[in-house]
Amino acid sequence: MTENAIRSVLVVGGGTSGWISAAVLARFLDPATTRITLVESDEIGIVGVGEATVPIIRNLNGLLGIDENDFVAATHGSFKLGIEFRDWGRIGNVHFHGFGDFGEDIEGIAPHHHWLKLRRQGDDRPIEDYSLTYALGRRGRFTPPDPESGRGESDYRYAYHFDAALYARYLRRHCEARGVTRVEGRISDVAQHGESGDIASVTLADGRALEADFFIDCSGFRGLLIEETLKTGYDSWAQWLPCDRAVVTASSGEAPSPPFTTSTALEAGWQWRIPLQHREGNGYVYASRFTSDERARELMLATLKGEPMQEPRVLRFEGGRRKLAWNRNCVAVGLASGFLEPLESTSIQLIQTAIARLIDHFPDRRRDPAIIAEYNRLCANEVERVRDFIILHYCLTHRTEPMWDYVRNMDLPDTLAHKIELWKAMGRVPLMTEESYQEPSWAAIFLGNGCLPGRYDPLVDRIDTARLARGMAARREAYAAWAERMPTQAAYIARHCAMKAPA
Ligand SMILES: Cc1cc2nc3c(=O)[nH]c(=O)nc-3n(C[C@H](O)[C@H](O)[C@H](O)COP(=O)(O)OP(=O)(O)OC[C@H]3O[C@@H](n4cnc5c(N)ncnc54)[C@H](O)[C@@H]3O)c2cc1C
Repeated sequence: MTENAIRSVLVVGGGTSGWISAAVLARFLDPATTRITLVESDEIGIVGVGEATVPIIRNLNGLLGIDENDFVAATHGSFKLGIEFRDWGRIGNVHFHGFGDFGEDIEGIAPHHHWLKLRRQGDDRPIEDYSLTYALGRRGRFTPPDPESGRGESDYRYAYHFDAALYARYLRRHCEARGVTRVEGRISDVAQHGESGDIASVTLADGRALEADFFIDCSGFRGLLIEETLKTGYDSWAQWLPCDRAVVTASSGEAPSPPFTTSTALEAGWQWRIPLQHREGNGYVYASRFTSDERARELMLATLKGEPMQEPRVLRFEGGRRKLAWNRNCVAVGLASGFLEPLESTSIQLIQTAIARLIDHFPDRRRDPAIIAEYNRLCANEVERVRDFIILHYCLTHRTEPMWDYVRNMDLPDTLAHKIELWKAMGRVPLMTEESYQEPSWAAIFLGNGCLPGRYDPLVDRIDTARLARGMAARREAYAAWAERMPTQAAYIARHCAMKAPA
């Protein structure tokens, strides 16, 4: 085995994807066998957005032995219980996709079926009244779930908001302390082996050459190795995800800040608000076919909370994925591998799963094609399932501005059309392989946008309606009463993880 082992890995790029990749490689690979080097360019810098996460990031922290309070303080972070959607579906509509479900199944049937039955009987309470995360979030409260408290009040998850630049710095310290070598410099040339076409080395502008057996391309949208060198190709999803730009800035925000991300639909896209301890991240993601950069900038600034702290800048992107995430001796991670607009904050999740999957399929220098094919199949399935979930938010709309008209009427991927059909028929979502989002998430988006199934599960009728109504009321009231007793997010942060000056 060892004579064919990969002896050196070069990570190209020091943004979130580069440092997460280096940290995970350093955690699993034997330093006596494999040397890990990361090259990044201070002159080029990082994309500097990507500040909202999903709960799987807590697994990464656990794996790397990162202490939560230290991490939140160092990245000036805050807590995220889900996403509040405003004006999606219809202007004035508010709904919540929380990191949890709508409570325990009742007699084996998911709670949204029971909610639907009560709704048919005239009870017009929103489904969010049964969300523990929203019970906390709408009151500005935060506490981690307490496994001791049993099912019910402990059954939710959470993630973080953080400053992307501080996060990269934090991971860099972590990696350097664990043997990763950082090289600063701008790559000006990439050399390939004549016969195999494999990448042999990169050359920096000052003439230094860095060789490796295996390369992780974390160079951002351009895909320096995977695209510019290996010409892997890109599958564009622009026909389903027309938003292709974002105008971004930071503002002073407003206190108290909520423990969730806010996404507000606007005339040609949507705007995020990501509250941190020292500022708020803001961006308007829009479709350039339906609005101008000037109009987007104006609208974003007009709806900003607090004072702007930076000159707004425009980022351009194209939703889609690289045709192969792994090509020859190069695996693309992060923006180099493709991009899904940040509506559900899924990019960092996809970075994590990509690098974890690489560890699971880690090659030797012979690189069996079957392993590469399997890796590519899993990556493609995963990102396509997330893509469908994001498209769902758009296609359910009743809004009538030209961009919204387009997304309401566009043809959908077959996989998503199938899910919508089954939901409408019976309130169920057929989950596929490598599915990141489970049924409560799909239900939150369907119901939140006013897409109700034609029927509820008939087995619900086994339960006496008055008894069901009493049980649902008790659940709702228990969640609300419990949330009232919890600390505010501000009090929790002040006690455990108030920001500290960057090291
Ligand atoms: C508008 C927008 C909002 C987003 N919001 C979220 C969000 O809320 N949540 C989320 O999970 N994700 C979000 N993302 C995605 C997220 O920003 C990225 O997935 C994440 O930052 C990782 O980027 P990266 O490391 O792949 O690339 P980058 O940050 O662009 O890093 C690229 C690295 O490559 C280096 N590099 C490039 N060329 C060279 C060269 N020639 N020589 C040497 N080094 C080089 C650069 O210096 C840099 O270090 C968002 C993205 C966009 C565009």
